[in-house]
Order: sequence, then structure tokens, then C-alpha cells
Amino acid sequence: MDVVVVGAGFAGMYMVHKAREAGLSVHAFEAGSGVGGTWYWNRYPGARCDVESLQYSYEFSEELQQEWNWTERYAGQPEILSYANHVADRFDLRTDITFNTRITTAHFDEDAQVWRVATDGGHDIEARYLVLATGCLSSANTPKIPGLESFAGPTYHTGKWPHEGVDFAGKRVGVIGTGSSGIQAIPHIAAEAGHLTVFQRTANYSVPARNGALDPDEVAKVKANYPEIRATNAMEGSAFKTALPRGEGSVLEVDDAERHADFERRWEHGGFVFLQGFIDTMLSEEANRYAADFARSKIREVVSDPATAEILSPKQLIGCKRLCLDTEYFETYNRPNVDLVDIAANPIAEITPQGVQTDEFYELDVLVLATGFDAMTGSITRIDIRGRDGQTIADAWSAGPKNYLGLGVEGFPNMFTITGPGSPSVLTNMLVSIQQHVDWIARCITDLDADGVTTIEPTNEAQTEWVTHVNSIADVTLYPSCNSWYLGANVPGKTRVFMPLIGYPDYVERCDAVAADGYAGFALTS
Ligand code: FAD
Ligand code: NAP
Repeated sequence: MDVVVVGAGFAGMYMVHKAREAGLSVHAFEAGSGVGGTWYWNRYPGARCDVESLQYSYEFSEELQQEWNWTERYAGQPEILSYANHVADRFDLRTDITFNTRITTAHFDEDAQVWRVATDGGHDIEARYLVLATGCLSSANTPKIPGLESFAGPTYHTGKWPHEGVDFAGKRVGVIGTGSSGIQAIPHIAAEAGHLTVFQRTANYSVPARNGALDPDEVAKVKANYPEIRATNAMEGSAFKTALPRGEGSVLEVDDAERHADFERRWEHGGFVFLQGFIDTMLSEEANRYAADFARSKIREVVSDPATAEILSPKQLIGCKRLCLDTEYFETYNRPNVDLVDIAANPIAEITPQGVQTDEFYELDVLVLATGFDAMTGSITRIDIRGRDGQTIADAWSAGPKNYLGLGVEGFPNMFTITGPGSPSVLTNMLVSIQQHVDWIARCITDLDADGVTTIEPTNEAQTEWVTHVNSIADVTLYPSCNSWYLGANVPGKTRVFMPLIGYPDYVERCDAVAADGYAGFALTS
């Protein structure tokens, strides 16, 4: 076939559709039993998007965006999964997707100039192009805690949640991890469990989502103006425009009253707008502290026990780990059936069949790991991908991912990554980034075919320049200042490199210029 796609989340689904439209033969393989990727796997209670539903959706089909009706400001996982299934039905995608099948190896055959791809289902595929739609947040990070496997009760990772759900009623539940997944799940688990113990290593900032039912008038207004709204999204660094305008001044140039009023207004609105009031929040530590102090003051307002509030108050700068959105997260710690354990102060020594041992012992019936993902590279390096001279992608990226435009890797001809490291990906509304990547890849293959080009691969020079570019932008911001998964810091032993590119519009401009310039920076052979 022309294109083999790994994964059938939103990226793989659209890649199948777009490749077909371009007249290419295409087939996707998906490890799960259905489409939806993130929304297929992350079925934990409380899972929902944090980019507003009306924006977190495909824009490639006007009919699709008109006919689909989101019910909440931030749709829950079941609704997003229904949407993915609706898209698969509407565009008849399943006929070109094989489910329950994991791609295990992909080797580039230099003589035949094809990818030879194998699956755990015994498939043996030959394809001109390999597209990795494997997801940035799709390889669960299971912590290496001594004795974890010995735990006698069930253990669930939020990113691999059982389809039948979990009955927490009356149980003693432990949750390890307080990132976005933990912060969404904890209030729901607390409401059901007999007792909940949360094991927190790093406190996180969280802004109220202020989720609620969508107003039909607002929906109608958005639908009537979708093309304009999508176009304004593309002008934003994060690829989505929020209802409150971005501030254009420095937080250091306003007085306390004005600063406080702006923070308060944004806090009340809910969501990521909180960090958008001033231009320097992610650029200057001094500026950042104002927003961080405000967010910490909100924790103290909500949490009744001052000692608990202190443990829940993050010490790192705000925004350098991904900001969380929540519904009644901090309120949960006022419940009599919830305890917080500071495992930064008292680390987990081991897990035994009965529970978790820190300086105290916590007896548990169920353990939930909200411990995140081997982000951005994990799902790629877990596949035995070999390019020229048998080099593996894991080796090529052992000192951190290197690529050009976040799309191609030197030594791996005719291989594309969707929302790969080095692209804006996880710092954007990902549905926008996914579509931009897929459109670019489809255009690229079409252009190359028209010109009789058989292989495309980044030059060493272009790749080196790109990696330097990605890092130089990150280095003028505060993003690299804490142990985030953006840096790979959550996975022991992973090389620390800031992986995503900051800034969507400049990136798109660069991708378009590269294509218009005959794929400048790529070596092409005919
Ligand atoms: P995924 O959805 O991760 O799909 C990748 C698929 O590839 C998976 O189904 C996986 O099974 C499959 N796969 C991987 N390796 C193989 C293999 N070797 N063989 C076969 N199949 C394979 N982003 C936002 O912009 N806004 C949000 O609100 C938002 N909320 C999120 C909430 C959660 C809980 C998580 C975890 C992420 C969230 N994200 C959000 C990021 C989200 O991952 C993307 O928005 C988007 O869904 C990614 O789509 P994808 O197709 O690129 O990857
Ligand atoms: P995460 O942000 O990486 O959080 C993982 C948590 O587990 C952190 O608190 C981490 O602590 C802790 N942890 C990891 N290893 C540990 C160990 N060995 N011992 C103790 N604690 C450990 O993962 P996530 O919460 O799944 O979120 C990942 C990303 O997915 C988010 O940032 C976001 O992009 C996306 N997401 C979005 C939403 C949404 O609201 N739409 C929901 C879920 C996920 P440390 O901080 O100390 O490492």
C-alpha cells in the first residue's frame, strides 16, 4: 500500500480519511478495539477535555462540525468517544483500520525503498510511507515502586481504564499521582469510595474548569461563524482562542488592584485564560510569582485545614507543568473520607499486598495509578523501528528526540510523525495541530508523487538547526524550569530535553514555506 498508519486516535483517523481523499491506498492498525485513542483508553471517572468542546473537534468537514452537537463546555470522555465513533461511521473509516492489532516492527528496506511492517496479529505489510499517529500521551508510565506487583487488590492506571468501569463503593482506595488525570478522577473516586488516600509527590496548580451545559444560543453562534472562529484559532500560539482576550501588557506594570481584578475575572471565567492575562507570566519569574501566589491563595481559601492546604500548594512556577483544570478538586480535601499523604516528604518505601508503606502504613483495597505517560516519544520508541543501516529510532533518540519540523527524522526515509516532538503538539489544541500535520503530510506525498520523488528524509543540517530552534525558544521561557513530562522528567532515566515547540502560527508558516520551497531541508531522491 501507499501509506501504513500506526494508531487510530484522532490523528490516525484523519490520516486515513485524508490519504483516501488524495487517492492513496492506506491502512491503519490500532492496538485498541475501537477508534478514539486517548478517549478510548482514558475512561477513568471525571475524564474530560480541557480545551472547550466547540474548539476541540475536527474542522476539516463543515457538515461534520454543523451536525455534531456538544452538550457541555468541556465534554466528558464518553461524549468525545461517541464523537470519534460518529466520525468513523460518517467517513466509513473502519474499513481501512484493523483493530486489536499492535504494530511491533517497521524496518525500512533501502533496496526496495519500502517500509516492511509487522504486527502482533501476524500481518506482514509493505508500504511506501509509514505514518506514526501513535499519540503523545498514549504509553502509560507505570512507576517502578518496590512491591507494586505484589498488591493483592486490583491496580488500575488511568490511561488503561477498564471498559466496564470500577466499583469503588465502600472500598479503601489509594491514588498515586496528582497531575491532570488524578485531579479529574480524585473528586469522583472520593464521592464513591469508603475512604480515599491520595499520595502526592508534587502539588499542582489547578484552575476551576467551570464546566456546564452549553447554551444553545452560544452553540448556534459558534456554528454560524465556525470558519472565522477556526481561522482565529490558527493565529493563537496555543491554536485556540478563548472567550476572554489575551492581555498585552506586563503584570509588573499594573498596580495590585488591577492585577488582582484581572486574575479574579479569569479565575471566575475558568480554564486556561487564567494564564493569558499578561504577556510575561511564562517569561519572567517575578511576573510568574504573581499568578502563582494568586492560585495558591485560592487553595487556602477552599481547603479548611491549613496544613493540608500547605501540602497542596505548589512550590514550582505556575504553568511550567501543564496547568490542570478541575471541578471541586481542592474541595475534595475537606471531605471526612479523604486523606492526603505528602510522599515528597515521606516517600513510598514499598507496596505490600495490603497497601502502601511510607513512614506510616496505609491499608488499601484498590490502587489507582494516575502516574501519567512516557510522553511524546514513548509510543514511538516502544516500536522496533529501523531506518537506514538498521539504526533503531530508540538509538537515534537516546539523547532526546531529534527531527525536522517535528515531522521527519534523518535516517528514517518516508516516515512521518503526527504531532511529534519538535512540533507545537501538546502546547496546543491538539485537534488543530493534528489536522495541520495530516494536511501537510498528504500534500507532501502528493507533491512527491507528482514529481517522481521516491524518498524524502531530513538533511542533517536542517535537523540540527531545527532542534536548536526548538530549544532556543523554550530557553527564553520558564517552561524548562521544573520536572515536567514536557522534559521527560517524569520517566526515570529518560534524557531531559524540552520536547514540544512553543508557538503555533510561526510553525505553520515555516511548514508551508518548506513545502512551497520544494521541501527545503529534506533530501529527496528519485
Ligand atoms: P492518541 O489519541 O493517543 O491515539 C494514538 C493511538 O495509537 C492509540 O489508540 C494507541 O492505542 C495507538 N497505538 C500506539 N502505538 C501503537 C502501535 N504500535 N500499534 C498500534 N496502535 C498503536 N488534548 C487537547 O488538545 N485538549 C484536551 O482537552 C486534551 N485532553 C486530554 C485528556 C487526557 C486524559 C489525555 C491523556 C490527553 C488529552 N489531550 C488533550 C491530548 C490528546 O492525547 C490529544 O488531544 C489527542 O486525542 C491525540 O490524538 P492522537 O490520535 O494523536 O493520539
Ligand atoms: P502527569 O501530569 O504526568 O501526572 C502524573 C502524576 O503522577 C504526577 O503527580 C507525578 O508526580 C505522579 N507520579 C509519577 N510517577 C510517580 C512515582 N513514581 N511516584 C509517585 N508519584 C508519581 O500525568 P497525567 O495526570 O496523566 O496528565 C498527563 C497529561 O495528559 C496532562 O498534562 C494533559 O496534557 C493530559 N491530560 C489532560 C486532561 C484534561 O484535563 N483534559 C486530563 C488528563 C490528562 P510528579 O509531578 O512529582 O512527577
